[in-house]
Amino acid sequence: MSSVPRLEDLGDLAGKSVLLRADFNVPVVDGEITDDLRIRAALPTIRWLIGQGASVTACTHLGRPKGQADLAHSVDPVRDRLRELVPGVELLENLRFDPRETANDGSFVEELVEGHDAFVNDAFGASHRAHASIVGPPRFLPSAAGRLLHREVEVLSGLRTNPRRPFVAVMGGSKVSDKLAVIEALLESVDSLIVGGGMCFTFLAAKGHSVGASLCEDDMVDTCARLLDGPKTIHLPYDITALGPGGKLMDPAAGGEVRQMGTNLPDGWIGVDIGPGSAAAFGDVIHEAGTVLWNGPMGVFEDPRFGGGTGAVAQAMADTKAFTVVGGGDSAAAAKLFGVEHEMDHVSTGGGASLALIEQGDLVGLKALRGAPSV
Ligand code: AMP
Repeated sequence: MSSVPRLEDLGDLAGKSVLLRADFNVPVVDGEITDDLRIRAALPTIRWLIGQGASVTACTHLGRPKGQADLAHSVDPVRDRLRELVPGVELLENLRFDPRETANDGSFVEELVEGHDAFVNDAFGASHRAHASIVGPPRFLPSAAGRLLHREVEVLSGLRTNPRRPFVAVMGGSKVSDKLAVIEALLESVDSLIVGGGMCFTFLAAKGHSVGASLCEDDMVDTCARLLDGPKTIHLPYDITALGPGGKLMDPAAGGEVRQMGTNLPDGWIGVDIGPGSAAAFGDVIHEAGTVLWNGPMGVFEDPRFGGGTGAVAQAMADTKAFTVVGGGDSAAAAKLFGVEHEMDHVSTGGGASLALIEQGDLVGLKALRGAPSV
């Protein structure tokens, strides 16, 4: 993948007006931001632009309003937080209040770029989407990737092209079908793949194990069998933490026995975490790695009874000397929950975008930046 233009490529910005597409899609509960990581992650870019003498107008989406103004998704809390962190930055209202944003409508792009001299995309988490504010402005304005976007691309593209070996990917989460394309792409470049989470049961079924009432995608069993037959080592758990009949996730009071088992679960039992033996064995693989990419929890970590496997992987990631990369979304949340986020070399700010970049090697938002007019 050829490189994308950087901030320095925008030339002299003194007195210029810069439109910044940021990803300030932060969690907001009752009007309060519960995690401002995504706002703070854009500060290096904003501070650099201001330092160059530019004025900055930022824009973002927030949540999923249905193409119309919706108070619950107003960017007001973000505007307040931004003002505390870097005064003087203007912030437009939620881009998705206008249906022309997701429709990539040219008239919306023209309104966005009006009055600006340059465009900066620092919204990694949205750069896999062909939305107006991502792919539109580079058609009109000299454009560049911000610091955050640039770092994400450098790290995640580097995994494909030049990882320190052995390169180990740790995949978890609920479904194989959601992540099949990225698993296939990763199997091209990794030395081995660790599979946990709900998706491991489809792999275990492919090896002939009985998976009880665990999450299992019957139509993916043959695909998993094919992947297991491939040249790369796929590490599967050999012990499972299971919840017995009558038990409910997130509700210990509902009863139901929790038991450590092997890989053949009786009827009615749900596999909800990798067992402690597998967690320790996965930790050894992570310890010996040169590079580790982690995407997806090893169990239903939101329920403290079933967070052990995910916590052990998080700790192994913190302890290893390997270069450690956490894909966004649930794994980033898990790294935070287990207090190891600052011990990772890179925590991606984009779940879907990081998977898309690893899988396809490029993103529509990056292609657009490469095609922008020069200064
Ligand atoms: P994903 O969005 O595909 O990365 O999946 C994340 C979700 O997978 C989390 O909410 C976990 O609770 C869930 N998960 C992990 N392990 C299991 C499991 N063994 N059974 C059911 N769900 C799981």
